[in-house]
Amino acid sequence: MSDPHVEAAVTSDDHVLAENLATEAGEMLVEFRRKGFAQGMSPWMLQDDADMEAHRFIVNRLAEERPDDAVLSEEGHDDRLRLGRSRVWIVDPLDGSNSYSSRGADDWAVHIALAVDGQPECGAVSMPSVGDVASTGQPAVVPENDRDRPTIVVSRQTMRWHGQTLANALDAEVYAFGSAGAKAMAVIRGSADAYFTDGGLYEWDSCAPVAVALAAGLHALRLDGSAPSYNNKNLFAPGLLICRPEMTKPILDLIEIR
Ligand SMILES: [Mg+2]
Repeated sequence: MSDPHVEAAVTSDDHVLAENLATEAGEMLVEFRRKGFAQGMSPWMLQDDADMEAHRFIVNRLAEERPDDAVLSEEGHDDRLRLGRSRVWIVDPLDGSNSYSSRGADDWAVHIALAVDGQPECGAVSMPSVGDVASTGQPAVVPENDRDRPTIVVSRQTMRWHGQTLANALDAEVYAFGSAGAKAMAVIRGSADAYFTDGGLYEWDSCAPVAVALAAGLHALRLDGSAPSYNNKNLFAPGLLICRPEMTKPILDLIEIR
């Protein structure tokens, strides 16, 4: 068994493990969802049971494969032992639960990240309904932008309050949908130029999306311009911007003015 203090650095195996877990948990969730719909499960029961199934699958695999690492999962108990640890897996077994339990919706994701000394160095985000996964092991190449106007994706809460401000000030198309992971993937795959939220996020909401976005050469920032850090005592932090580098200044300037 290895000493976690010696083996703090991310290895190529960690990147592979993150991607495999995001993919396999995603496949499990797709099958679970298919059966749930077929059996007429209620949306809330489907969400809750799926969340727990995926959580157990991920934490059991991490316990087998990385017994020395700490794990923080949205669905697990935070015993805070992680605070004394260098390597902490930060996972959201199912991001976008409401979409998951809505027939036909594909804006839900699985987030697997490994923070080392608070840095989001390794991670994967899968979008199981569309069979897509992005990971730090094979950083995404963000396609060139050939749109005349910028496209910004936001949370539904942000849409209600500041969607129009963003659209007007930046002459942007602004869309809202669920799942921080799905919105980060829209920027990574080039269908959007920025993901902006002024709402609060837990560490499991943002860690894997931020890791894969940074690996792809995108910017990922808090709204005060600082870099997100992880494995903090307080797991909740306000605001996040993931975007093409040229979008950072216009959006942060706008926030400052407001
Ligand atoms: Mg969740």
